[in-house]
Amino acid sequence: MQIVQTALKPDCSVGDLAKLAETDPGFGIRLLSVVNSSAYALPHKVNDVPQAASLLGVNGMKNLALGLSMSQMAPVGPEGELLLGNCLRRGVAARLLAERMGMRKRADDCFTTGLFLETGLLTWASEDLRGAADVARWPAEARTLQERLAGQTPHPIRGADLAKEWNLSDELIGAIRRHHDEHAPDDLVGKVAWAAERLAAVFEGSAPETATKNAVAAGAKLNLNEAIITEILEQLPTLVSGAASGFKREVGAQVSYEALKRQVDQKLVELNQNFHTMVHRLERLLGEKEELNLRLETANKRLAQLASTDGLTGLFNHRAFQDSLKRDLHRARRSGQPLSLILFDVDHFKKFNDTWGHQAGDAVLMAIGKLLLASVRIGDVPARYGGEEFVIILPDTPVDGAYLLAERLRVNISKLRVKLGANVLDVTSSFGVAEVRGRFEHDPAKLIEAADTALYAAKHAGRNQVVQAPEALA
Ligand code: GH3
Ligand code: MG
Ligand code: MG
Repeated sequence: MQIVQTALKPDCSVGDLAKLAETDPGFGIRLLSVVNSSAYALPHKVNDVPQAASLLGVNGMKNLALGLSMSQMAPVGPEGELLLGNCLRRGVAARLLAERMGMRKRADDCFTTGLFLETGLLTWASEDLRGAADVARWPAEARTLQERLAGQTPHPIRGADLAKEWNLSDELIGAIRRHHDEHAPDDLVGKVAWAAERLAAVFEGSAPETATKNAVAAGAKLNLNEAIITEILEQLPTLVSGAASGFKREVGAQVSYEALKRQVDQKLVELNQNFHTMVHRLERLLGEKEELNLRLETANKRLAQLASTDGLTGLFNHRAFQDSLKRDLHRARRSGQPLSLILFDVDHFKKFNDTWGHQAGDAVLMAIGKLLLASVRIGDVPARYGGEEFVIILPDTPVDGAYLLAERLRVNISKLRVKLGANVLDVTSSFGVAEVRGRFEHDPAKLIEAADTALYAAKHAGRNQVVQAPEALA
């Protein structure tokens, strides 16, 4: 990783990297081994690190370091071999495609990009080798579906997120993220990686005939004809073995493309058709399940909202008010900030109902609810206490602030004009205001009682006024 980090620095030279490689004999040996492996197909053998470094250049060394760190992520053992084989197959395929397209300068980048396509599966393997290997045993095109069924983040997303964390290039990140997309990405390296995925799939459990058709179609997107794709498919298995030994790792016996084609028989074709039908059905079911989960989540949110909301006014209901008051009093005790309560009650509402009817009464209560919602600050809790009584919790507010708000509400309620046929109706309200102060465990009931006593005094004094509790509860 030190070499990768050095290589990612903009001012890094080949000499810097060669020096680093020489101080780490393990890396130097691996470097020579990979450079001389069939995956690189160099015209002659490279004997020392400086020679390899000057041959590969900064970018090539960087890619090599990335490749080595990737190969170290694959665990040892048959499952690890399966995963590593899949990685190398994509890397080698991407390199061959790039070379056949005449992009020799980008061949190293394409090799690395191919190697990293399955990073998401490799990291999953480090937590759950069995789970990741089970997914890797499925035909390539079914893997992301299997991951979703297993409740995992599909490896293109997981891998791309990791590559981002590691500060790898946007090109590489994009290629990883999109290699299972239905359509090829627009950028060249992304497209090569996308096609490499489809070439590798030919060797990974799909019916070879269908998979080959897909691979040829993918090659056409790179302007490579069927003959070239076939050639690459023929070269792939040997080169994968070669690349593995370059990395000093095992990937098990690789089946040749010839042998693979001979295995095709009618039964396999039928099986493949059934398999595809099943994959489609699963895809649909999974989509439906994910959609249902989303709807359930929305419904639950709505339910929670309903359970705490008063149906008529849209304010918090009595229960939500009590819960909130308890919480806000705890917070006030911890912060030492004052908290005030405004309690008010509509005046002569019984008479109002008797005169104008219950529906007119309801319209007034709704209008008051609207007014409250528009008048309070974020953090204040306006609620319907019950009947025609309302309450507002004002955290971090001393009583004189609460008094001012109550006074403003009193005036605005008296100015409400509710229309009923040709009549315009108006109401007034009486207010009680109380406060708690200090870092004490305050009793919610005592605060409500203090506000209620003040409200009662306001009624007695002639209604349509605000009365403040004589002193703060402390
Ligand atoms: P005061 O000024 O002393 O508060 O007199 P009041 O008539 O408002 O007091 P009282 O408590 O005697 O009557 C409250 C009335 O409020 C009785 C009830 O009909 C009415 N009320 C309570 N809830 C609702 C409601 O949801 N809708 C309507 N329309 N009226 C309600
Ligand atoms: Mg009343
Ligand atoms: Mg009342």
